[in-house]
Amino acid sequence: MYNPKSLKAEEFISHEEILETLEYGEKNKHNAELIDSIIAKAKLRKGLSHREGAVLLDCDIPEKNEEIYKLAEQIKKDFYGNRIVMFAPLYLSNYCINGCVYCPYHAKNKHICRKKLTQEEIEKEVIALQDMGHKRLAIEAGEDPVNNPIEYILESIKTIYSIKHKNGAIRRVNVNIAATTVENYRKLKEAGIGTYILFQETYNKESYERLHPTGPKHNYAYHTEAMDRAMEGGIDDVGIGALFGLELYRYEFAGLLMHAEHLEAVHGVGPHTISVPRIRRADDINPDTFNNGIDDDTFAKLVACLRICVPYTGMIVSTRESRKCRERVLHLGISQISGASKTSVGGYAEPEPEEDNSAQFDVSDNRTLDEVVNWLMRLGYIPSFCTACYREGRTGDRFMSLCKAGQIQNCCHPNALMTLKEYLEDYASEDTKRIGEELIARELKTIPNEIVRKKATEYIDNIIHGKRDFRF
Ligand code: SF4
Ligand code: SF4
Repeated sequence: MYNPKSLKAEEFISHEEILETLEYGEKNKHNAELIDSIIAKAKLRKGLSHREGAVLLDCDIPEKNEEIYKLAEQIKKDFYGNRIVMFAPLYLSNYCINGCVYCPYHAKNKHICRKKLTQEEIEKEVIALQDMGHKRLAIEAGEDPVNNPIEYILESIKTIYSIKHKNGAIRRVNVNIAATTVENYRKLKEAGIGTYILFQETYNKESYERLHPTGPKHNYAYHTEAMDRAMEGGIDDVGIGALFGLELYRYEFAGLLMHAEHLEAVHGVGPHTISVPRIRRADDINPDTFNNGIDDDTFAKLVACLRICVPYTGMIVSTRESRKCRERVLHLGISQISGASKTSVGGYAEPEPEEDNSAQFDVSDNRTLDEVVNWLMRLGYIPSFCTACYREGRTGDRFMSLCKAGQIQNCCHPNALMTLKEYLEDYASEDTKRIGEELIARELKTIPNEIVRKKATEYIDNIIHGKRDFRF
């Protein structure tokens, strides 16, 4: 029944295979010999299968777990250096006809404030985001063919790309909208989107159907097969994720890896990103009513094991997580974080009035972008506003083959420094600017290729003199 090459959801995410995987992990959690051999394989940096990953996730030998954490940290350093890519979500509309029981936008919630941004409001929001320093957005909208048809999403993307305020520009728009048709994915591709993101929420079909009792999202197969349709529509970069807390985390972990294996087997390219959101409190949602919540230690182990299993895939953590938790998982594998996020519809240009409350979930990390950038640099990271790959056409398998050959490093590091420099020149506070200048001076020296080093230094000098948008 289990077949990663199948295009049927229940065959590439086989429930029986996941159950056997969980049993295999549980049975081998003390098997030092097997764990050693899996760690040795992981050191080759070519990834691991879902079964191998499950053994590492379940492993409860403290010394082996230390090795797992160290290896995750090393792989993170090898593939991503000390760079962290920054982005912000932009909620366009919270109209939704689905009945997801964990989300306050569910159709039966009659007291939440429903909003949909007009193109003029989007313009204001984008200017506010540009004025913070953001270059990369993830747009979000509920599923509602009347209020949020694909034409509205396409028009909004066009508006976002068209706004150039002072030195600002949104250079990459990632899209997080409901599963749709190949034709609509093709339209999104033509509109120039970056990554198409869709969270599975849970890979367990029975739970999925219970948690999505009404609306088109109830259809497990249509939702689970969405990434195949997106790729058929020409979208190269897709981002998957599961909402941790709905089902057993071990089940979702295996499901995520099987989904990645499926995309690789069918399309020759795995997911561009994996997100690991955990359920948060929101309007009429109490996370305590879901009994599969995971603590911070388990969350860290999960991130570390994903990092080891899919070394080429970016990993995202949002402002759902606290500063402390984000700090911990940054070391273990996270490569992208959001900063200064608003999870309400609008709210960047002007704070949302208290009585409105259109937010999807409570934010745990409420710091400004400048504070987040400053914090990252103090931790030794380079906050990056880079969007070069998508704009240079390095997407899908082109991106992955460069990444697997270790070549992407020659672009990411100088691009991170140049985009950070733009940020420092245009938006940073005095203190952030001071720390950033020191960091750039230090990091420039570490670029091994002399030609790239000279070019990057020259570009940075040009940025000081008012020029923008250099990239490798
Ligand atoms: S999770 Fe998405 S589809 Fe479900 S109710 Fe919320 S906005 Fe709608
Ligand atoms: S060069 Fe490409 S992979 Fe590297 S940070 Fe920029 S967009 Fe991402």
